[in-house]
Amino acid sequence: MKVGVLGAGQLGRMLALAGIPMNIEFVLLDPAKDACGQSLGEFINAAFDDESALRKFVDKVDVVTVEFENISVKSLEWLSQHVPVYPPPLALSTAQDRLLEKQMFARLGIPTAEYKAIDQLDAFIDYCSSKDQPMIAKSRREGYDGKGQARISADTDLSASWDKLAGVPILVEDMINFDREVSIIAVRDRNGDTVFYPLCENTHANGILHCTQVRLNDPMQQQAEDYSKRVMDELDYVGVLTFEFFDCDGQLIANEIAPRVHNSGHWSIEGTDSSQFENHLRAICGMPLGSTETRGPSAMINIVGEMPARDAVLAVEGAHWHDYAKQPRAGRKLGHITVRANNQQQFDERLAKLEKLLAGTSAPVGACKN
Ligand code: ATP
Ligand code: MG
Repeated sequence: MKVGVLGAGQLGRMLALAGIPMNIEFVLLDPAKDACGQSLGEFINAAFDDESALRKFVDKVDVVTVEFENISVKSLEWLSQHVPVYPPPLALSTAQDRLLEKQMFARLGIPTAEYKAIDQLDAFIDYCSSKDQPMIAKSRREGYDGKGQARISADTDLSASWDKLAGVPILVEDMINFDREVSIIAVRDRNGDTVFYPLCENTHANGILHCTQVRLNDPMQQQAEDYSKRVMDELDYVGVLTFEFFDCDGQLIANEIAPRVHNSGHWSIEGTDSSQFENHLRAICGMPLGSTETRGPSAMINIVGEMPARDAVLAVEGAHWHDYAKQPRAGRKLGHITVRANNQQQFDERLAKLEKLLAGTSAPVGACKN
């Protein structure tokens, strides 16, 4: 079985690392010359809409998947005329536009923040002036890690915010006063069977995910599974789908979906029976899904901008080191650490040690919450 992956960043790299034991081979396509997943398979260095490269790519593989969600739907549709493309192009086109995504949530009875789609400065000023509460403006397309967003309160200079967003079509959402941010990693196979990982609680630093902690037996688990299943059935989804929510007074409010393996699922590499990467491959290759049973507390901490001392991290019991082999740069995700333990007290101690080690670097720290 040969899997074609559009994108050869760290997600493509970890997909390949999970597939090699199952004798799955990989062809990875990425426009970046130094893409960190390239050594894990055959590498095609080309733009995602380079027709001759896509032809060469598709001829080599049995199935195509993505590790990056902003790939032109035209390319995906063309590829899907030759081999199965999972997740289906409809899932990508929906997730690529925050308006289409929100409209789908409404159709499926999944609550979201109140919002308005706007593409003119006048309408932006009118709408924001008419609302008496904090809001957040987001570009409809191509935002990630909090980029393409502007927070709006009573004293915000609205013209300056509009300029910051570069005049592209946006959504203006009510700011949700949430208790916590959670996400769920869901998987659906080619027969429509599903499995779910336990709910994760996420904290951010400088707009980038900092820490994900698994919440076993969380009271919101069922609701998160139910909403994810509605979305996956609607899209006839195959593969891993990540759903980000705000937990607000015991109600989940949908933020966004990611039609791919996700940073908040990296803990599953060591934390469960079958990782999100393995289960994504099982789903798209038509294999039975693997167990997501999770024993004991588990977490993931991102390494951003600068690597901490590897051996000090590895000296913490239960910790695993994941180095994406990328050049350090401010704000760049360079790797992550996973940690697990047999009981909560042991886990809290290990996590605290790791946070302390990260505090010695320029990486964002201190946001892990127990
Ligand atoms: P990422 O790539 O990290 O998932 P993103 O750029 O796709 O981020 P969002 O997830 O929509 O964008 O927003 C980034 C963060 O901003 C959220 O994780 C949350 O902390 C905050 N945020 C976004 N929308 C709202 C909202 N309506 N109310 C409160 N906070 C919000
Ligand atoms: Mg998000």
